[in-house]
Amino acid sequence: MQPLRIIASLLMLLGAANAFATDATRTLRVDYSHSGNALSDSYSVDRVVIEPLPWPGSPDQNIDRLRRGAYFFEVVDPATDTVLYSRGFSSIFGEWRTTGEARQMNRRFSESLRFPMPEKPVRIRLYARDDRNEFSQVWTTDIDPAALDVRHSTAPKPGEVVSIRDSGPSPDKVDLLILGDGYTAAEQDKFIADANRLSNELFKVSPFKEHANDFNVHALMAPSPESGVARPSGGLHRWTPLGTRYDAFGSERYVLTFENEALRDIAQWSPYEFIEILVNNETYGGGGIYGLYSTAAAGSEWSPYLFVHEFGHHFAGLADEYYTSSVAYETGGERKEPWEPNVTALRDPTQLKWRSMVKGDTPLPTPWPKADFEKHQQDYQKVRAKLREDQRPESEMNALFRREKTLEEDLLGKARYANAVGAFEGANYEATGYYRPEANCVMFTRTEAFCSVCAAAIEAVIDQYATPRSD
Ligand SMILES: [Zn+2]
Repeated sequence: MQPLRIIASLLMLLGAANAFATDATRTLRVDYSHSGNALSDSYSVDRVVIEPLPWPGSPDQNIDRLRRGAYFFEVVDPATDTVLYSRGFSSIFGEWRTTGEARQMNRRFSESLRFPMPEKPVRIRLYARDDRNEFSQVWTTDIDPAALDVRHSTAPKPGEVVSIRDSGPSPDKVDLLILGDGYTAAEQDKFIADANRLSNELFKVSPFKEHANDFNVHALMAPSPESGVARPSGGLHRWTPLGTRYDAFGSERYVLTFENEALRDIAQWSPYEFIEILVNNETYGGGGIYGLYSTAAAGSEWSPYLFVHEFGHHFAGLADEYYTSSVAYETGGERKEPWEPNVTALRDPTQLKWRSMVKGDTPLPTPWPKADFEKHQQDYQKVRAKLREDQRPESEMNALFRREKTLEEDLLGKARYANAVGAFEGANYEATGYYRPEANCVMFTRTEAFCSVCAAAIEAVIDQYATPRSD
């Protein structure tokens, strides 16, 4: 331990601030149900679990400075009202409630809150974004870690945890867990090869490249009885340990698991703060939710892009900057300022959240070949939908995506403000009224680099999990 860290730790021990056990602090997890519909929702505790591994986070980083996400939770000492731990996050319920289905029926989703094991009973306060996009309290519940209902025993370890990248002790590093789903026991080596390959792809992209030594990466899979995960629209039905599947919310390329408790029971066997699930399929698809997990089709030709793009959602709460392909969400006519760091409603250019990165002579909004781009996209999206409708081989989709990438990079690269930070209209699934920071970005097209605003938003998260090295 470095001298500064010893002093910092001693100060924490002396102060009243640290109400968590310090010696190999355990991890407490609250699994709860979030139920309801588009108009109303409710919360209830399902189980409180002491996870088998120590808390992977730094005791100096208990408070979330970023306040991103659709939701936010605080762990509070009820005697003093001191906030002991906090984190922002997004959820599947939060996405589902914006779909058409949520206006017609109720559904229940399992969610989890994880935090360092408290020494005394604590109060959980949960907040959701309100009409002004501010956090407003929606639920509170008291948790006694000594209660008889708290589970100390847990389902057995499903497989071997393999270290992919070891940069140092967990509390000083970002801990990324790569989980496999749809890999049979005989495909364990394939999974580890995929985890290594895609982890390497992530660390080729800035700013992950420059911060590779801030990350630990582990890989773990529970074997599936058959190869591949479910893709109902293609007639592929599978049971897999994580329950990951295509066609989430009726979107053929959207890959999610709705089985949160199964996911947590497996993930808890590795140190983790972030989860990327690799599905053993070649069909293009993925998904990513801030603070929950991301997914990517490891067998797709586009797996490096899928891994990096979806991880951008999960890790940093980045919004999609694209707006021409179909999504399940129904957005209203009103344009509130989004909480995501890389899109804006640009209500007041002088208050633009990435204003400090805009050079003086860049106009806001910033011109770009929008009409040409959209004209081309209309044809391209039609061809894409038809390929899926006709269940054409994946190689035809891959070829279409390659042609598309070349055309887009040519068009966007020639734009007058191609490399400038500004406010480019078209983002967040809307052609008008939302703006993105640069002409191109991994969150906009299948290009290789994040725009500068996305890169800075990622670095801020790394800073919240990794302790800066003194060397
Ligand atoms: Zn971006």
